[in-house]
Amino acid sequence: MALINDKYNREFKTLRVSLLSKCNLSCVYCTMGEDEVKENNQHDTPAPAQQLLATIQQLHSVLHLETIRLTGGEPLLYHDLVPLIRGIKGIGIPKISLTTNGFLLERLAGPMKEAGLQSINVSLDAVDEDMFFLMSKRSDVHRILKGIEAAIAAGLHVKLNAVIMKGINENQIIPLLDFAFERNISIRFLEIMAMGYLHDTAGKYLFTQADILHRIAEKYDFKKSIRDKAATANYWETTEGKLFGIIANESEPFCHDCNRLRLDSNGNIYGCLSSNHPIPLNNEDDATALISKLQQAMDQKQSLKFVGSDLSMLHIGG
Ligand code: SAM
Repeated sequence: MALINDKYNREFKTLRVSLLSKCNLSCVYCTMGEDEVKENNQHDTPAPAQQLLATIQQLHSVLHLETIRLTGGEPLLYHDLVPLIRGIKGIGIPKISLTTNGFLLERLAGPMKEAGLQSINVSLDAVDEDMFFLMSKRSDVHRILKGIEAAIAAGLHVKLNAVIMKGINENQIIPLLDFAFERNISIRFLEIMAMGYLHDTAGKYLFTQADILHRIAEKYDFKKSIRDKAATANYWETTEGKLFGIIANESEPFCHDCNRLRLDSNGNIYGCLSSNHPIPLNNEDDATALISKLQQAMDQKQSLKFVGSDLSMLHIGG
């Protein structure tokens, strides 16, 4: 195995693959509105599954990956998703996960589990229908709730992710927590990140880790758990034994032990969400060329704190 690391001793062990930039929601932090999504969707030509599998195999042979996470855009819109998951299982990466908005989950949860998917993160910023519409510009939050039930029934390990924006959806923290606790699934709240069109203005929407804990303390008693190496979230456990997490990119950055490599839907790698410099991979790259590109990606990592980027997570993959 080639050694690709940096002065903080970080290695690449998790690969996040953005399958396409297209999405079926228009969440307020990802896009300014429908027009941007429509324009973006016109130009999106996702790579075929065979090509993606060849790239993933190529990266795994050098990195001995531990986890792969499929994302986007919305990965459930990717045409060959189930065969792709089956192919990744065949490559032998131990853990296969996926991040989705859950809109198409009810139908796909079972087939994805059968193909080899083990866990799923569902992004859900509200359980209240009006607030869901305000956050995503789409109606029918119940469709997602049914998708979550289907994923649990299929035997997938399910986690919820909720972005909390100050002045918008902070009143959803307790309802989301109750929804997760009733189903025995864990939930993480995310501080807003300075990405895409929010690059310079995210601060005004920042509802911090301390604010979130303060809100949860109105209903629950909890104590902090120990953070796992390279984890994105800090976790707390309530006196009833229920877990919740906070991804505190601003208040408690976690760049120092980040082990993530990103592959976008055009075959470019990035070492960090904040990098605007795609590194194109080529299936013809020999081991020396590939290692050199991976070292370039490693050198993109921020030392301690994420600095923000003009790229939207819609493109680079959240
Ligand atoms: N469509 C899928 C979904 O909704 O989960 C996958 C892609 S989405 C970009 C992945 C994650 O990025 C979601 O949990 C979303 O909430 C989060 N996200 C996007 N932009 C963000 C921002 N500016 N700050 C914090 N989280 C963001």
